[in-house]
Amino acid sequence: MTTFAQWEFTVDREATVAAYARAEIGGSASCNCNGCRNFAVARNSVYPPAFLLFLESLGIDFQKDGEAYHNACLSPGRHDYGGWFHFVGTLEKTGDFPPVAMSENFEAWLVSKGAPSLESFHGLPLVEVAFHATAVPWVLDEPEAM
Ligand SMILES: [Zn+2]
Repeated sequence: MTTFAQWEFTVDREATVAAYARAEIGGSASCNCNGCRNFAVARNSVYPPAFLLFLESLGIDFQKDGEAYHNACLSPGRHDYGGWFHFVGTLEKTGDFPPVAMSENFEAWLVSKGAPSLESFHGLPLVEVAFHATAVPWVLDEPEAM
């Protein structure tokens, strides 16, 4: 059993790595709206090292999110986003636990799979890693999403 703060789960890292290898692109990279296009470019500066290490330990390819969504423009050049990833495994202990702050502007938590997964994960037992980022820069050379 592996833990993430108060959550307990099992992970099949090999199956997760294999499913990400079969997925050509992630959710944000496959959407054409300006919010997703911005995130696909900005994400390299958005995920804190602790989050990248956590994803790596699960076998998740950080470039292939299930989806990312633009919530709001908090101030010029600063945007609020949410999103999620999936990994193959089972969530053994979950609850209304507080999200884990992985930097001043980034938090993550686990939930039972509820949001759409990439096609290569269909039919597999999945756990969802959800995240909330509150300092995503606007890097596109076009008007900011509101
Ligand atoms: Zn989009």
